[in-house]
Amino acid sequence: MQLQTILNRIQKHRGFVYGPIRLRDERGHLRLEVEIYPHRRSRPRCSGCGRRGPQYDTLDARWFEFVPLWGIRVFFLYLMRRVDCVRCGKVRVEQVPWAAGKHPVTTAYAWFLARWAKRVSWREVATVFHTSWDTVYRSVAMAVDWGRAHLDLAGIEAIGIDELQWQHGHRYVTVVYQIDAARKRLLWVGQDRTKKTLLGFFRWFGKERTQALRFVCSDMWKAYLTVVAKKAGHALHILDRFHIAQQMGKAIDQVRRSEVRELRQHGRPALLTKARWVLLRRRENRTAEDRRRLRDLVRHNLKAVRAMLLREDFEPFWQYRSVPWAGRFLDRWCTAVMRSRIDPMKKVARMLRAHRPLLMNWFRARGEISAGAVEGLNNKAKPLLSGHGDGEVP
Ligand SMILES: [Zn+2]
Repeated sequence: MQLQTILNRIQKHRGFVYGPIRLRDERGHLRLEVEIYPHRRSRPRCSGCGRRGPQYDTLDARWFEFVPLWGIRVFFLYLMRRVDCVRCGKVRVEQVPWAAGKHPVTTAYAWFLARWAKRVSWREVATVFHTSWDTVYRSVAMAVDWGRAHLDLAGIEAIGIDELQWQHGHRYVTVVYQIDAARKRLLWVGQDRTKKTLLGFFRWFGKERTQALRFVCSDMWKAYLTVVAKKAGHALHILDRFHIAQQMGKAIDQVRRSEVRELRQHGRPALLTKARWVLLRRRENRTAEDRRRLRDLVRHNLKAVRAMLLREDFEPFWQYRSVPWAGRFLDRWCTAVMRSRIDPMKKVARMLRAHRPLLMNWFRARGEISAGAVEGLNNKAKPLLSGHGDGEVP
């Protein structure tokens, strides 16, 4: 059986035929290249209005990546035609059925990637299929767009807003989930994490549905706080636990790094090197070796160790049932930290003080939104699209 036969069976495009297929070895990586030709009598379709018209000319070849076969990357090769469109009154590039707009990825492959992105993290999808993070992002965005058009948005009371970063924090994506106790699913994704990004979500979500929101969960990113206050000021805004833990982890790491520098200047470098994971690891995950090293570090009364102990002191905060008592605990902890002379931790304490009301909302929302949502909404390592499982976003 020939490959064309399979392609004609699974991916036949009216007005186009599959030409010769080559297997090429590109620096040790195999790739299948499939030529596509327009049917002799078919006229190109205008990308502006969708009407067929006379061909104007032919452009350079363009590559479109298709779903890999036997783990081999597959590319369609096609010479785009231009249409002299009467309705649009100008010459336009043709519209092809296997890809949308200027995407270098076929729609079939984008769906394939988006489905995998439901099961494993975007980064893993990109790695496994030898594609870029951008391609995965765009594929998911396409799936979410499609899903939105077919989505039932009734009865959403709780949303979670999160940011995802890639390229070492140079680029961001904002994601919004529904996090009602009954269901958790991805609602929206947008490029960047600016006020404009989040305003885009609320514009799409609409006034009426926004009015029905009771809970909004997010991190302390200023742009989000501002937009949530402006657009959903009536809802209970909650700062979630995961982000606070993350801030403390960052602070501890900062203390450790400056202390390593200090120790090195005093000729005692060995003490804190390779201590990073010992310090950042949570109590329940420590090994016997970690504990031995910690005892050793505690003896030297290092700032990094004291910072870590401050974080441990904070843990009981989340166990409180009563809002006033939790508030008292928070205030005491902040006072202790402010006396610690450990600047990065003091910064965390100041931040928690500044956002005290939002932080206390965590206790007010308890039980009202799904348990996992507030706590682990945004473990960056977790698959992004998992958990909704309802099929609205395929
Ligand atoms: Zn047209």
